[in-house]
Amino acid sequence: MTTKEIQIHDKSFYPFISESEIMTSVKTLAKALEKDYEGKDLLLIAILNGAFMFASDIMKCIQRDAEISFVKVSSYKGTQTSGRVDELIGLNNNMENRHVVILEDIVDTGITIDKVISLINANDPASVEVCTLLYKPEAYKGKHKPKYIGFEIPNKFVVGYGLDYNELGRNLKELYQLKEE
Ligand code: 5GP
Repeated sequence: MTTKEIQIHDKSFYPFISESEIMTSVKTLAKALEKDYEGKDLLLIAILNGAFMFASDIMKCIQRDAEISFVKVSSYKGTQTSGRVDELIGLNNNMENRHVVILEDIVDTGITIDKVISLINANDPASVEVCTLLYKPEAYKGKHKPKYIGFEIPNKFVVGYGLDYNELGRNLKELYQLKEE
């Protein structure tokens, strides 16, 4: 792992969680899913864009049959009076009686994941849990604390391993934390 600070757009970041620490955590999470969902029909749902790298690595570590689907959260103005409505683009799997695990890169306030859970619950799955690589306990205000957490981290901005700063930094193999001036 590089020990050097990096620059993305106008900000500096320093190394935070190494590639090997990430991979150890991903393997542990994959093992926990294998154990907890043994004999059950498992459907993984990864939230784009940020979770693409985490989802890919966790899929490679799961040594059993598992289906995966990639969805995107979108907000749009309704044509009626309801105002903002959120939908999940790409959600077309049959979920009835299936066990869903949502794969997220990071849970911060928990607003996104709460919306995703309620949209998924409308499809009558047997169960829904969240598996996130990163979780910020100090920022979290949601209703569904993730069951599977890779790292609990301070309430500071991070990039790398799928997470971006204004669309850059997603390709970094390790995680970097914002350097506060
Ligand atoms: P929420 O606050 O709803 O839990 O998180 C919303 C989204 O904000 C996350 O899915 C993620 O895309 C983004 N986000 C939250 N914290 C960070 C962070 O530290 N770094 C980056 N790159 N994105 C973050």
